[in-house]
Amino acid sequence: MLQVRRDLCLGCGLCIQNCPRQAISILWGKAEIDQSRCVPCRLCREVCPPGAIIEVAPVSIEELQTLVATLRQRADDLIKQLQP
Ligand code: SF4
Ligand code: SF4
Repeated sequence: MLQVRRDLCLGCGLCIQNCPRQAISILWGKAEIDQSRCVPCRLCREVCPPGAIIEVAPVSIEELQTLVATLRQRADDLIKQLQP
């Protein structure tokens, strides 16, 4: 799955010009990919000057829940260590 890093996007529109599926639009000055239209052919990633389009692996809800639980546990452990 491809996503736009909003912190890197310049809003230049090059990705839009090169997308064969009209899957990209500019929202508040930054590119946005409509995942329901994206193939993904990766042409947008190739033309993006700052490299703002990145490939991300989809994460399942179970993986996300496990990650949140692990981070919560680590945060609790750190807080315990800091307490006198
Ligand atoms: S080509 Fe890259 S920098 Fe330009 S609008 Fe698209 S994502 Fe943003
Ligand atoms: S991967 Fe291809 S279809 Fe998807 S947004 Fe980029 S250019 Fe368009």
